[in-house]
Amino acid sequence: MRRWVAGAAAAALVVLASPAASADPAASGAIPKVPVMTGFGGAVSSVDADATRIGLEVLRRGGNAVDAAVATAAALGVTEPYSAGIGGGGYFVYYDARTRTVHTIDGRETAPSRMTETAFIDPATGKPLPFDQGVNSGLSVGVPGTAATWQHALDAWGTLSLRKALDPAADLAQRGFTVDATFQAQTAANQTRFDDIVPTRDLFLPGGAPPAVGSTFRNPDLARTYRQLGREGVDWLYRGGLGREVVSTVQAPPVAPDADRVFRPGLMQQRDLSAYSVIDRKPTRVDYRGLQVYGMPPSSSGGSTVAESLNILENVDLKSMDAATATHYYLEATRLAFADRNRYVGDPAFVDVPLRGLLSQGFADERACRIDPAHAGVSPVAPGDPTAPYEGCGTTVGAGEPEPYEGLSTTHLTAADRWGNVVAYTLTIEQTGGSAITVPGRGFLLNNELTDFSFAPLFPGVPDPNLPAPGKRPRSSMSPTIVLKGGKPYLALGSPGGATIITTVLQTLVGRVDRGLSLLDAVAAPRLSQRNGAATEAEPGVPADLRAALQARGHVLKDNPEIGAATALEFLPGGRIQAVAEPVRRGGGSAGVVWPT
Ligand code: GLU
Repeated sequence: MRRWVAGAAAAALVVLASPAASADPAASGAIPKVPVMTGFGGAVSSVDADATRIGLEVLRRGGNAVDAAVATAAALGVTEPYSAGIGGGGYFVYYDARTRTVHTIDGRETAPSRMTETAFIDPATGKPLPFDQGVNSGLSVGVPGTAATWQHALDAWGTLSLRKALDPAADLAQRGFTVDATFQAQTAANQTRFDDIVPTRDLFLPGGAPPAVGSTFRNPDLARTYRQLGREGVDWLYRGGLGREVVSTVQAPPVAPDADRVFRPGLMQQRDLSAYSVIDRKPTRVDYRGLQVYGMPPSSSGGSTVAESLNILENVDLKSMDAATATHYYLEATRLAFADRNRYVGDPAFVDVPLRGLLSQGFADERACRIDPAHAGVSPVAPGDPTAPYEGCGTTVGAGEPEPYEGLSTTHLTAADRWGNVVAYTLTIEQTGGSAITVPGRGFLLNNELTDFSFAPLFPGVPDPNLPAPGKRPRSSMSPTIVLKGGKPYLALGSPGGATIITTVLQTLVGRVDRGLSLLDAVAAPRLSQRNGAATEAEPGVPADLRAALQARGHVLKDNPEIGAATALEFLPGGRIQAVAEPVRRGGGSAGVVWPT
């Protein structure tokens, strides 16, 4: 999510001030909304207490981590409908204990076959559309991948049918959940655009206003949709009646007569849905201080950018540094890695991504050579040349581009089972509230993921790897990550937050692995995010002495009220698992284990 953030930022402040209270005494079972829990038998961590509870119930009844992850994700589609759901896409990373291998599913939304490079150029002006006009539009809706991801994960590694995995979420949608301050604030931040679309207004603005904190929010349409999807299977979406409804909604958004905005018609056709498939991809892998770090390869830039940053940081001993020096290196690593990401990463079906170079230690050493220990780099720094041979500080290629501000949307969950299988799964509808277009009578929002494409070439005179094209997947930053130690699970983590996802995952890893923080403290620590911009974003909690020391090195700090909303697991000796969620951000997350100790 980028640029269009004023409302969301204000909402985040409200969220920060609100207590991390339990979501719903009626709907919640035994699981209180706590940020950390340790024990045995499997674990789930998500942003939401109902979703975590549902995942744990699946584990308790003998389901595995994949079953639990799908059930939890479906529940997040109910309680976090502005962040995730079957109208969107995501990336699923899975460690299989039996074969000791890490797998990934790319369930990213794709551009329809009628989408061209100039889809986001306004024919009237010849200029890129203003970002909000791209967002609030059928044009931004990509072919959704989430339902196909769930089915594929269950087929490959799960034990439940899709129907069984969706049942608890359907019950939750039927019975309702208690509106908390986060849900209320997110609705309020979206009120004017939700009000423009009849089924969105009817569902999310009952009586013309955001639902009150403490009220029960029911979504019987979504309950019916989940049940029918379970009965008929995902072909109902990709080849059947639900697909036809999605297509007609995208082509003619159900705009209210009194709408304040024009919602442009989208380009999706039935054949785009039937052509969709998720993609099994080989994970990215780098070794970092004896750990094996696995992530999501392109079409996401998450895996390669976290990996390159880690490789850069391996050039210094973060452990022995004072906080300011360690933070300086952390910021400089991502300044450089983002220059490379923007220049080289796109959908690999369309772009020759130099992935091997981006993941290589040699290239990272060249980039690390450019870090001045005493002074912040001057952004935008230029991308490097990731091809071998590697020597000295390497060469640079053209000019760099800063990555714009990104806000809070999307959701991440982590799950593990008693057999040692682990899931890190990030899913999204892009902006908080997606395209604002609800499929009439179906209870879910459609994504605006195609606004993750560049609207116009980013680098003058150089090919932009992230321009739209028919059937192309927009570049993502989602970074579901699984870390092994000696071939066994050690950590699993991820976060929402657009391009800040990458820095959040990196900062959490560095905090835990190098800086001696507990996993909870590493997640809770005040965040900084540098993405090749003139300024580094800093949360309000960054201490004054650290700020002063960074500023003395030339870092320009800019406030960002809230960066990310991570969830994570740590696998402890003796088969114990520690589940961790945010203590405060986004109203606090929910960590649970099957048998707490
Ligand atoms: N669309 C973003 C991405 O794929 C995620 C949305 C967000 O978290 O802001 O990177």
